[in-house]
Amino acid sequence: MRILVTGGAGYIGSVTAALLVEQDHEVEILDDLSTGHGEAVPDGVILHEGALQDDDHLDRVFAQPFDAVVHFAAFSLVGESVRDPLKYWRNNVGGTLNLLQRVATGGARRFVFSSTAAVYGEPDAVPIGEDAQLAPVNPYGHTKLAMERALADAAEATGLSAVALRYFNAAGAWGGRGEDHDPETHLIPRLLRSLLSEGETFAVFGDDYPTPDGTCIRDYIHVRDLAEAHALALAWAEQPGFHAMNLGTGDGHSVQEIITAASRVTGLTVAPPVQPRRPGDPARLVAANDRARRLLGWSPRRSDVDSLLADAWEWHRTHPAGYSG
Ligand code: UDP
Repeated sequence: MRILVTGGAGYIGSVTAALLVEQDHEVEILDDLSTGHGEAVPDGVILHEGALQDDDHLDRVFAQPFDAVVHFAAFSLVGESVRDPLKYWRNNVGGTLNLLQRVATGGARRFVFSSTAAVYGEPDAVPIGEDAQLAPVNPYGHTKLAMERALADAAEATGLSAVALRYFNAAGAWGGRGEDHDPETHLIPRLLRSLLSEGETFAVFGDDYPTPDGTCIRDYIHVRDLAEAHALALAWAEQPGFHAMNLGTGDGHSVQEIITAASRVTGLTVAPPVQPRRPGDPARLVAANDRARRLLGWSPRRSDVDSLLADAWEWHRTHPAGYSG
């Protein structure tokens, strides 16, 4: 297939683009490099450097139609979205509408969208199924849900085949591509970076949650497993309509369990201080993943905690300053 990957210079986007190249698809990337990294773009792939809001740029990108679009390009920092919500609405929702406009007028027949468990907010029950209430609790989640709804409406009107993949906690590294966010807010990179540099501080945000060891439980999923789900969704997306699927392992791990595994994998002592809870963190988020298993034939293959941490550790050890280092 001829595939456009927006945000293909980012963390999950670049690992997915590299897998699609491996599978002999013709891949092009659209990325403004505001948070992505030119070095993450796979060899031989055309990078259209520019924003989704730039109409002339989009016209040039879509001069020759695609079979499919995989749409990752979005801002994704929850805290920043609370401080500057309109930046998120403008970029995430505005950019998606521009993209869908091109797709709806013949730009592509298949569309795979990078969504998030943040669309569920603080769920009443876990594991969380796709039919759970959609009630985001921050502007980032609101924009992702709005993007899903725009996509569903466009699919209904135009016969587009659209799949929204709702990731739980992406982690790990693959093929020389890993996490390099600025600022970094996620547990595993913050923890591992603190082992590599004295200047990087790390603390546990709260140990008084209603969980067995008092720390929050999350469902960590390897970035390579996420990439495989995108490739499967592209092949599966033939019928018109909109489908949402969770991508997680169905197993939760506490912050303390991740710390224990990090000690095991790195051979280093990890004994971080405990700080107060981070506002807005639910105690437990775990995916029900039966739909992706059943419809796509997907299953996580590398998401056991030790493999996740070993791959992430290898990336951070060899890229202590991220891509630029
Ligand atoms: N966390 C932590 N210390 C950190 C970063 C994160 O204790 O430096 C905790 C955070 O409070 C949450 C879990 O790790 O309970 C996962 O957080 P992350 O930001 O990685 O993902 P989220 O689930 O918030 O998207």
